[in-house]
Amino acid sequence: MVHFTYRQEDNPPPAGPKLKLFRLKAGESANFALLGQKVHGVWTHWNGRTDPCVEPKELCNGCAKQHPQRWKGYIFARHESTLELGFLEVTQAMREKLIALLNGEQWLRGSRVKALRGNGQKTSVQYLLLRPWLQEHEGQPMPDDTSPMETLRVLFEWRRPKSDGKNGTP
Ligand SMILES: [Zn+2]
Repeated sequence: MVHFTYRQEDNPPPAGPKLKLFRLKAGESANFALLGQKVHGVWTHWNGRTDPCVEPKELCNGCAKQHPQRWKGYIFARHESTLELGFLEVTQAMREKLIALLNGEQWLRGSRVKALRGNGQKTSVQYLLLRPWLQEHEGQPMPDDTSPMETLRVLFEWRRPKSDGKNGTP
């Protein structure tokens, strides 16, 4: 006789993609509470829009067409105005600035920053340190770090190109 219990969940997650990407537009600023332990990085191709770079290389449309490669980083974060959870998208340069400001990637989680993107053609991002999460939210648990891959898969239709329709498998 095998004993079992029912798997319970009082607060099931909402259907569909629930986490968004936070991207700053030119001239925009926003405060973020950083919840991720690290910046999750992926390679993408630029083709007028961002396409994923996939492995193995033979299956990557962007590599075959030699579309330029761009690294993109994602930090799990809370947007402090909307209170939404999601991923702050950073470029290589933005990641370096952020980590320099915080004195190392190990201080990402729990830090809060104001991110400001400049106006004009050369839009760079500045970061200002705010009071840390724990000082602002005493006794409140911080959400665990989360990988952006599920969100990216949905937003970028993150999948390998179909193999020329012969067998119909993705
Ligand atoms: Zn590629």
